Amino acid sequence: MQETKKICRRCLLAELSEDEYVRSLKEYIAGYPEDKRVCEEEYRRRLGICTDCERLADGICSLCGCYVELRALKPNSVCPEPFDNKWKVDKC
Ligand code: SF4
Repeated sequence: MQETKKICRRCLLAELSEDEYVRSLKEYIAGYPEDKRVCEEEYRRRLGICTDCERLADGICSLCGCYVELRALKPNSVCPEPFDNKWKVDKC
């Protein structure tokens, strides 16, 4: 019988396995409220820019330390590139 382990939302990262952590991030992104996130087109546009950026490593922006898939969700978030906000204008 396979044991099912519950994810604790109040645990520190050190207490989660890598699989649990990635799953927790994906659940957070999927459950982020529609009325507090950019539209899908803008979200995909931002992530497309990040995937072409030399600052991206393992899903994290090396400038700000954020997971870009989380940062890109929020309408007021900007790309932290100091000399060239690569995301520029929001489409929605
Ligand atoms: S947020 Fe900006 S600097 Fe960071 S990875 Fe994305 S495009 Fe690059």
